[in-house]
Amino acid sequence: MPGPGINSLDQASVTTLKGVGPAFADKLARLGIHTLADVLFHLPMRYEDRSRVTPIARARLGQQVVIEGEVVEVKLAFGRRRSLLAYLKDDTGMIALRFFHFSRPQQKNLENAGTIRCFGEVRRGAAGFEIYHPEYTSAAGNHLDNTLTPVYPATEGLTQQRMRGLVEQVLSMMDAGKLLPELLPSTIVPMNMGINEAIGFVHRPPPDADMIALMEGRHPAQQRLAFEELLGHHTSMRLVREEVSRLRTYALTPPGKTCKAFTESLGFDLTGAQTRVASEIANDMSKPVPMLRLLQGDVGSGKTVIAALAAIQAVENGLQAAIMAPTEILAEQHFINFSGWLSPLGITTTYLSGKVKGSKRAEQLALMKSGTAGVIIGTHALFQKEVKFKKLGLIVIDEQHRFGVHQRLALREKGETSDLLPHQLVMTATPIPRTLTMSLYADMDCSIIDELPPGRSPVVSSVLADTKRDEVVERVRDACHSGAQAYWVCTLIEESEVLQSQAAETTADQLRGKLHDLAVGLVHGRMTPADKTDVMTRFKHGKLDLLVATTVIEVGVDVPNASLMIIENPERLGLAQLHQLRGRIGRGSRQSYCVLLYHPPLSETSKRRLNVIRESSDGFYIAEQDLQIRGPGEVLGTRQSGSLAFRIADIIRDNHMLTDVRRAADWLLVNDRRRANAIMRRWITTPEKLSQV
Ligand code: ADP
Ligand code: MG
Repeated sequence: MPGPGINSLDQASVTTLKGVGPAFADKLARLGIHTLADVLFHLPMRYEDRSRVTPIARARLGQQVVIEGEVVEVKLAFGRRRSLLAYLKDDTGMIALRFFHFSRPQQKNLENAGTIRCFGEVRRGAAGFEIYHPEYTSAAGNHLDNTLTPVYPATEGLTQQRMRGLVEQVLSMMDAGKLLPELLPSTIVPMNMGINEAIGFVHRPPPDADMIALMEGRHPAQQRLAFEELLGHHTSMRLVREEVSRLRTYALTPPGKTCKAFTESLGFDLTGAQTRVASEIANDMSKPVPMLRLLQGDVGSGKTVIAALAAIQAVENGLQAAIMAPTEILAEQHFINFSGWLSPLGITTTYLSGKVKGSKRAEQLALMKSGTAGVIIGTHALFQKEVKFKKLGLIVIDEQHRFGVHQRLALREKGETSDLLPHQLVMTATPIPRTLTMSLYADMDCSIIDELPPGRSPVVSSVLADTKRDEVVERVRDACHSGAQAYWVCTLIEESEVLQSQAAETTADQLRGKLHDLAVGLVHGRMTPADKTDVMTRFKHGKLDLLVATTVIEVGVDVPNASLMIIENPERLGLAQLHQLRGRIGRGSRQSYCVLLYHPPLSETSKRRLNVIRESSDGFYIAEQDLQIRGPGEVLGTRQSGSLAFRIADIIRDNHMLTDVRRAADWLLVNDRRRANAIMRRWITTPEKLSQV
């Protein structure tokens, strides 16, 4: 392996690029982009074809197209919301551009624009085919792209344009001969392709590249990268495991009186699966080696109780337990559950999130530091430097995929006696086919809750066209009048949280208009955490009948009285995500219903996929079907299997590589640790923590 020189892509800082000053570099650093190589490994999540102009008459619904035409009329439209309409005409037809946000100067500018070129998604609107908020420029003198256009993961304050500019600069350095080091040993050449070729291709695919394969991540160049990423990930977990097995921790005594009092207070018996898993965990924690256990259990299988039992066992041993959730809503909900369960048992529970500020925060921090707080619930705010525990014996991480393995190791420095790593329990509801678990979670032992609490009748799901929308609205009314609560989930494919949130607002307004007699709430990603929590709490307490939401409610929200869920445009989501969403209902005694309200026409593949959801409620089965039915031409969102934060790999799609990945890792760990480390560092954003193990 060539040693990295100071001028190598691996070493040179982004500040050596044109237009990257300290402030911009800071922004990039927050994305984990420090070096020129990091720029290259910030990979596109999808592509657009802006290499040719589509005649207006040939633009199809749902397609993203470049069109070019003359602005023939600009006018204001006064519908539910005021908007600006600009009609664009070419030789073949006319289409409307619609702007919900616009300024006077923009309106003037459009009126005098003449011929413009614009890009956006074709949809059906009041004025026929429309494009909302297209990107547009004057057609004169602007060239079409000569490659497919990469779209990078959207980030606050970093435009696509700017990201593309950075990548272009680094790619031209590569063209001039400055290359990335090949980290795979010469005996392993996935897809017969070197790293430089693969990276060059994914950032600049030629216009005739297989767009379908690219959108699915199945192009050989993407697969080449996915292999290396899986290898980096797998290797890092193996190393973690190795290191952890050398560490020491508190060996706990078996569950005692308080645990027993807790299970007796529950008002239900643990299922067989819960009992089994609880004893696996207790057994792990009785050893002086830190537990690293993954608990998989479908939505609603009752993982929270298991976490509580483990936490109590830690407290019985004079230790603290921290429970970490990926969002404020979930953390808050856990706090409500845990304090309700634990305060009667004499255990103090505290709560810490980014939103807890000032003296309240100081107070919580003090309780944690002094050891008064036995159980601490929070978001990743628990990772912050100022957070100190007295004696942290257990850390439970809910919904694992949002936290990296390295973040978890950071917790080691949190105890007063920092040579001890707390026991760790990681819980996930993401169904992963069993065969994958070993490769994916090579650093952990695995427990599965494969049984739902009794007395649950499965959610009855139906698939309906949105032409039946009014009937569905009436159904919501009836259900709520009979005392149930309902979710109305808006799904959109735009990456833009702004547009998603706007769409949810529009839907909420419409539904409020139709359902005067119901209390309708709204929760979306652009609200402040405090506002979100407030709405969720009101819903939970039955003060709202109907909750309109974006997919932010996906994970873990527990409102047993909610028994009806409408999912709009379910065809836009992956099956795993639909399954997660649907898991929000069917938690109480009431029969629950889920209506998948699709927008016709539905492709054959989409029909089959929605039928899987209608017919099955088994997360593992659904995950497998998701893989099998993902036919050609089916463009799914970027989160389809959503289990781990990979940049390009998708363990379900790429599971055929896992045996080879494991073999390559075996070889590297024995023969070339330096390469193993380099691969890990390339693919995993925060490897610093690992070196401290
Ligand atoms: P998840 O595994 O999705 O996190 P939860 O822990 O939120 O599931 O549990 C879902 C619901 O089921 C909660 O209301 C919980 O109190 C209840 N529950 C858990 N275990 C049982 C059980 N053994 N019997 C009956 N209800 C249970
Ligand atoms: Mg949960």
